[in-house]
Amino acid sequence: MTDTVRALAGDLNAYAAEGGCLTVLVDEPMSRHTSFHIGGPAGLYLVPGCRDALVRVLTAARERGVRTYLLGNGTNVLFDDAGYDGAVVSLTGMDHIAVGEDGLVTAEAGASLSSVCKAARDAGLTGLEFAFGIPGSAGGAVVMNAGAYGGETAQVLEASEYLDPRTMEAGRLSLEEHSYGYRDSVYRHTDRIVLSASFRLKPGSREDIAAAMSDYASRRVSKQPLEYPSAGSVFKRPAGRFVGQMVEESGLKGYRIGGAEVSEKHAGFIVNRGGATCRDVLALVEHIRETVRKNYGVELECEIIHVT
Ligand SMILES: Cc1cc2nc3c(=O)[nH]c(=O)nc-3n(C[C@H](O)[C@H](O)[C@H](O)COP(=O)(O)OP(=O)(O)OC[C@H]3O[C@@H](n4cnc5c(N)ncnc54)[C@H](O)[C@@H]3O)c2cc1C
Repeated sequence: MTDTVRALAGDLNAYAAEGGCLTVLVDEPMSRHTSFHIGGPAGLYLVPGCRDALVRVLTAARERGVRTYLLGNGTNVLFDDAGYDGAVVSLTGMDHIAVGEDGLVTAEAGASLSSVCKAARDAGLTGLEFAFGIPGSAGGAVVMNAGAYGGETAQVLEASEYLDPRTMEAGRLSLEEHSYGYRDSVYRHTDRIVLSASFRLKPGSREDIAAAMSDYASRRVSKQPLEYPSAGSVFKRPAGRFVGQMVEESGLKGYRIGGAEVSEKHAGFIVNRGGATCRDVLALVEHIRETVRKNYGVELECEIIHVT
């Protein structure tokens, strides 16, 4: 740990001891906080439980010259084996969900997407069923335009609220201002932090909503290798092609480098079969890309975000 990170830990431990809603962990392995179960230690792993604490953390880190990385549920990221020489700020402590009378469901960024789906179901609101089982947070879904089974976040989002870490001021983006694309949004190109997301849903039958959610969940169980740690689909879907099919036809199912393996169940996933390192995964990603380039002339683009 560097001296600046140690000094920041001191500042923030004092803030937490005075009653600030903040958890401070030092030299915390990122393998504990990511769905891949991979990643070396972050100098600091911080979980603010409210906006004031988030602002405090970001301000203190800036004053101390410590870099920060914003994390949702950690289901689309691959942290380096060397870890992160700064502060990882997890938003999972900010997870309140409010259901309005008018079909508007507003979730703090750290709420799990599946909890938001359940709240909508319980209120008899339809539109978010597709997202049930996507293991990310509401904020991560807004940033990544998470989608499945023909639905995507852009179809149901009304607006998001953000914090600008340069000015520490909050603002609001309408749906149009998100500039949504496939697994892309304006948030991927700025350092703004999603604070909350409002989803515009319609009245529906609770039974139908519950049935659709359980159908999507069972499709996931049967098609995806949920029994092993992963970060979901490794590559973005190229136009007119299916990644899993090209990887499977290339004979790569079950191909392994170290503890990282092309899933036997779904060739679009790399799974951690035990002890996989970031280096194993990156080597396997490169091998798949080369093979698919050679066999199909298709350039695969990684969806998983490598954090160094
Ligand atoms: C088994 C499995 C199945 C999956 N299935 C799907 C699927 O069907 N469809 C799909 O789209 N994805 C899927 N994913 C990938 C992943 O769940 C989504 O991309 C999800 O939206 C990521 O959310 P997260 O909270 O985990 O984000 P993280 O992985 O924590 O972060 C992803 C990126 O968003 C940024 N970020 C996160 N929260 C915020 C915030 N509040 N403000 C600003 N930036 C933020 C991070 O800095 C990072 O760059 C799957 C993953 C797994 C492991």
